[in-house]
Amino acid sequence: MNIDEFQVRGKEMIEYICEYLRTLEGKRVTANVDPGYLRPLLPKEAPAKGEPWDAIMRDVDSKIMPGITHWQHPRFHAYFPAGNSFPSILGDMLSDAIGCIGFSWAASPACTELETIVLDWYAKAIDLPPEFLAEHKSSKGGGVIQGSASECILVTMLAARTQAIRTLKEQDPNTEDSAFLPRLVAYCSTEAHSCAEKAAMISLVKLRVLEPDEKGSLRGKRLESAIREDVANGLVPFFVSTTLGTTGSCAFDNLVEIGPVCKLYPNIWLHVDGAYAGNAFICPEMRPLMTGIEHADSFNTNPNKWLLVNFDCSCLWVRDRVKLTSALVVDPLYLQHARSGESIDYRHWGIPLSRRFRALKLWFVMRSYGITGLQKYIRNHIRLARRFETLMRRDKRFEITNDVRVGLVCFRLKENDEINQELLANINASGRLHMIPARVMGKYILRFCVIKENATDDDIDYAVDVIEEHATEVMLAHYE
Ligand code: PLP
Repeated sequence: MNIDEFQVRGKEMIEYICEYLRTLEGKRVTANVDPGYLRPLLPKEAPAKGEPWDAIMRDVDSKIMPGITHWQHPRFHAYFPAGNSFPSILGDMLSDAIGCIGFSWAASPACTELETIVLDWYAKAIDLPPEFLAEHKSSKGGGVIQGSASECILVTMLAARTQAIRTLKEQDPNTEDSAFLPRLVAYCSTEAHSCAEKAAMISLVKLRVLEPDEKGSLRGKRLESAIREDVANGLVPFFVSTTLGTTGSCAFDNLVEIGPVCKLYPNIWLHVDGAYAGNAFICPEMRPLMTGIEHADSFNTNPNKWLLVNFDCSCLWVRDRVKLTSALVVDPLYLQHARSGESIDYRHWGIPLSRRFRALKLWFVMRSYGITGLQKYIRNHIRLARRFETLMRRDKRFEITNDVRVGLVCFRLKENDEINQELLANINASGRLHMIPARVMGKYILRFCVIKENATDDDIDYAVDVIEEHATEVMLAHYE
């Protein structure tokens, strides 16, 4: 494809995208295919000769689209939102066209500098403590875009592990680093995302998974007694992963209590994962939910979940960037450059070397919506979640099982798990609505998340109707 053809096909692709998004509502929200559906539809080998573009696009329509779960569909209420907006798509298009690999400042100065600036903007917009900003020459902190919240938790755990091993080595300099690993212990709650468990697996450290209170919030006393017990047994607590807005039910750990407990132990790094709900702090009225953030060593939130930015864009801020990079620096000659000392080289802030120009789409979104536009978007979702909650509470067959504070409502029929599983399976099989379950504090629940950018009252009312209709069917089948 040459540039002239690209110009034509590019315009056609925009047309195709607009048509796709305009007509989404008429489609099933979930794919109605079985595993392995695609292999028989495609040739066994890649084509030896290039094919006409029209033929490729015909296959997109007839073979790929039937296997798509439509995350931007107005009836998609599963997981958390997959951020998406036109300014963000355009930002990614431009990033792809520039095609730079911004691992160091010299590899593309604007790519690095825009990332630092936009992360400062966002940190201010959600009112993070000033120590997390890179703005001032004397600042030790700063922000970076990672590919996912899982990476944010992994790299902060690795950084904390390095710090802890360094301290242990001061007393025991002849011991190999790896010999300290069996003594290191990290903490999270049963409600934390499974990526905390994965990070501990990769880091080869113990993870103590603690019971939160009845609201799903990890409390200081519970953490303190676990830490005391571990210290008495010769272990070294080094990392606490907390969550503001858990995946299952959007519960908030109690940072006001947890922070001071962590401060009692010099090696403990306190991480705060706000992958979804952290974006809500752009609204001042939501900030009481982040009280205690001043105790954190690091914080992450994903604009690619709830700030209209396409995947991937997970923002991580650290209080002390040297502590982060000291776990991750390798410095071969071919990656060095003359201005190293004067600039940030983001290759030291994460696992991959290569990095896309992801700041562009976040910058486009922040500039085109403005803070007030983004607040409006978040507030609309919260309002609609409350509407859903109110309507569901009116139907006495259901119970609401979480405190609805952001865009997620958890509910179940006041029946056994089996009936609730059947309800969800039937709704999903209908293709009219898509939700996922979770097990929260031992209970099987259905999760309803407000997802669509401009979701309306009608979208919520429709969802309630579908759920009630299926509930009636399931109950009749069981009790007749
Ligand atoms: N943390 C929380 C609270 C989440 O809800 C999720 C995913 O939904 C994650 C972490 C993992 O996110 P990612 O897919 O960006 O790794």
